[in-house]
Amino acid sequence: MNNSCKRQVDILIEHGLIVPVTGPDQIMGDGAVAIDGGKIIAVGPQEELGERYSGRKTIDARHKAVLPGLINAHCHFLQNFLKGAKDDLPLIKWIEEVSFPRIRLAVQDYLAHRPELQYYATLHGCIEALKCGITTAVNMEWATPLETIDVYEHTGIRGVHTLTFTDNDQWTPPEAILSDGEIFGLADRLIERCARSKDRRVAFCYGIACPNSCSPALISKVREEADKNKVLVHLHLAETNFEFQNISKKYHKTPTGYLHQLGILGPDVFVAHGIWLTDEDIQILKETGTSVVHNPECNMKIASGVAPIAKMARAGINISLGTDSCAVNDNTDLFETMRTTVLLQRVHQLDSACLSSYQALEMATLGGARAIGLGDKLGSLEPGKLADLILVDLTSINMRPVNNVINNLVYCANTNNVDTVIVDGKVVVEKQLLLNLDEEKAVSQAEKFAQRRFEAAGLKLPAYFTP
Ligand SMILES: [Zn+2]
Repeated sequence: MNNSCKRQVDILIEHGLIVPVTGPDQIMGDGAVAIDGGKIIAVGPQEELGERYSGRKTIDARHKAVLPGLINAHCHFLQNFLKGAKDDLPLIKWIEEVSFPRIRLAVQDYLAHRPELQYYATLHGCIEALKCGITTAVNMEWATPLETIDVYEHTGIRGVHTLTFTDNDQWTPPEAILSDGEIFGLADRLIERCARSKDRRVAFCYGIACPNSCSPALISKVREEADKNKVLVHLHLAETNFEFQNISKKYHKTPTGYLHQLGILGPDVFVAHGIWLTDEDIQILKETGTSVVHNPECNMKIASGVAPIAKMARAGINISLGTDSCAVNDNTDLFETMRTTVLLQRVHQLDSACLSSYQALEMATLGGARAIGLGDKLGSLEPGKLADLILVDLTSINMRPVNNVINNLVYCANTNNVDTVIVDGKVVVEKQLLLNLDEEKAVSQAEKFAQRRFEAAGLKLPAYFTP
């Protein structure tokens, strides 16, 4: 067929090794993907799609794997500025010494109408995420000005912007707590701002800091507002034995049982961690349709425990993956997270078959999409879905030889192998370069601002923090 008879599409990806994440055996060599109007319109053999479509832009995917964009279902961009800053601390000390001083500063800046700190943190986070092959990031932040939403739009990433609620000054410094009126008012404004975000690429989500730091009344109010506004709820749950013991003592229920009693759990809720769970808790998560975000590297670094992911997967709970913050990881590499997810479960269960590489890949893509309520729109390469996908270079030495592309992606790949990133049918990273902004300039501006702001607030900086 000559070109004039072919249907013109925005992008035709040609000659790729297609990993659609529609099943462990669904791999296609010499395949093509046609993208038009922000959606995937066809996935199939090169021979067939090459006959039917011509791309206004063509991407040669020879020697590259083409797969759904990765979904980071739990991170905190403000803490991108703290990579490598602290070590050897358990969670409670880490929160007091590392996390809260910065959060307090961000909240105080918000109240003083100074949006720059959160703006630059989000910029830093979005740039790193895209370069790492992450097409959707769930960014859980504290008081964030509306300007933060601009950053998702400019950089081209898909975002789930999560505003964290807390009201218990026994666990949270009072200066980091906004009044109910202020925080729910800010949520309303962010909901309205996200609803008119470019191409509706940014969704709003209510965030509950954790069961310890929120009163039952606040948790119930979040549930009411989420129902009213039809938006998601995200929270840290069952992260530490400390939380498990404290909630059990106070309410005579496990943290999961306590939240279930308050009626907060449900199919519009995804919880980060889920480490300290009883069999009954796992049943509650399953029955309520609550999703779990597994953050193995954070859990390992601050010694919180091992989440029973294989068990939860067997119970039919939707599992997604997250990196958590760069202060407790200290990277944004979801390839590494996939690998760690499998290895940690196997050594913990002493069972080399308890979790497969395909399950980990599915968690990092389709599991994330389901967690944020977009399982029918994202997470796999299928006609009709939004065109969020990545091309991973298979020619680097760490990827060769490719004996099984799923195993190679999960066990061999790292973020340096990400070549091209497409979000909503638009190329945002090409040949490892960001197309929408000057990466070095933006990162340098962000780090310089953070350095000045932290110094002005008297926060001790790491010795090598020199942007
Ligand atoms: Zn977290």
